[in-house]
Amino acid sequence: MAIFENIDFDDHESVHTFSDPESGLKAFIAIHSTKCGPSAGGCRLWSYSDSATALTDALRLSRGMSYKNAMAGLNLGGGKAVVLRPSGDFDRTALFAAFGKAVDSLGGRYYTAEDVGVSPDDMRVVRQQTSFVAGLNDGEAASGDPSPVTADGVFRAVRLAADKKLNAPLKGLRISVQGLGHVGYDVCRRLSIAGAHLIVTDINAELMRKTESAFGAKLVAPDDIYGVDADIYVPCALGATINENTIDVLKIKAIAGAANNQLSISKMGKFLHEKSILYCPDYVVNGGGIINIAGEIEGNYNKDWVEEKLQGLEATLVEIIECAAKTNRPTNEIADEMAQSRIGRR
Ligand code: NAD
Repeated sequence: MAIFENIDFDDHESVHTFSDPESGLKAFIAIHSTKCGPSAGGCRLWSYSDSATALTDALRLSRGMSYKNAMAGLNLGGGKAVVLRPSGDFDRTALFAAFGKAVDSLGGRYYTAEDVGVSPDDMRVVRQQTSFVAGLNDGEAASGDPSPVTADGVFRAVRLAADKKLNAPLKGLRISVQGLGHVGYDVCRRLSIAGAHLIVTDINAELMRKTESAFGAKLVAPDDIYGVDADIYVPCALGATINENTIDVLKIKAIAGAANNQLSISKMGKFLHEKSILYCPDYVVNGGGIINIAGEIEGNYNKDWVEEKLQGLEATLVEIIECAAKTNRPTNEIADEMAQSRIGRR
């Protein structure tokens, strides 16, 4: 499993492998950059087909965290942990205790928190092993689950996309949402209050039913979400959903969602630009959660500071959209350049 030859290796400062046969822990922690401060990014628990796929995920996600933290103006670098979900039954407490020890062994170069498949309860277990963890529900300066703040940021980005691309308020717009988990469901709630019509999907049938009955959302099968006749697409499941198979069927005018690494390859941004679809870069749109976590890491969590930073994200998104329009270039390229310059890689 070559690392330096991996197409997603981007001069990461370090990549760590952890294994603990007793608990079943197999994990990677990738630290992309500590230029702006200690690296921070969530921990993902997922059933990967193999460890090479998990490693690639850690490399891509940690680079995304460097960009995300820089664009949010945080004193944090970029890192990410991926834990390979053990097959069959496993002791969750033992798994996260072992993961906590792994995080602690890095001596504060990486702060962890929740990501897909991980809850504040898991982070409480991690906290027993290390202080380099945030997203806790209780204790001094605890900020809780970051998902509602991520959802707040996504909602603001969707509203901005509606304004900039469609010159319209959200009321009456058709919005397609993929993934109805911690973030996606709350985004649906906010969009529904704003009067948008929702077309949604998830691989979890129960979440589909819940969203239908709470917000009158129209349900579609997971593979049908891309071709839906909607105004804005809000990806809130996993990454790489804008890819060679989906790009041609998209009928939307804009994309703004929570999922990390939405473009399978950077060139997809160019294709979206050519199709006149406004792409709001994922790591700007979904920065709300890490902003919330940063307040906790600094030990002075307060909601006014979080609000100020969320408004900063909106301003950054406007700057990217306006620069892209003025220079007739893809938004992802503009955003990448801004982020790279902030972490001293340009
Ligand atoms: P989650 O695990 O709670 O929800 C993800 C949902 O997507 C689940 O309901 C799952 O069933 C669904 N899903 C998975 N594959 C799917 C598919 N092919 N089609 C349809 N649905 C599918 O995760 P979350 O915390 O809501 O995060 C959602 C996304 O946002 C992730 O990509 C995550 O990395 C990103 N993100 C989350 C946060 C946060 O604060 N939670 C912050 C930044 C980015």
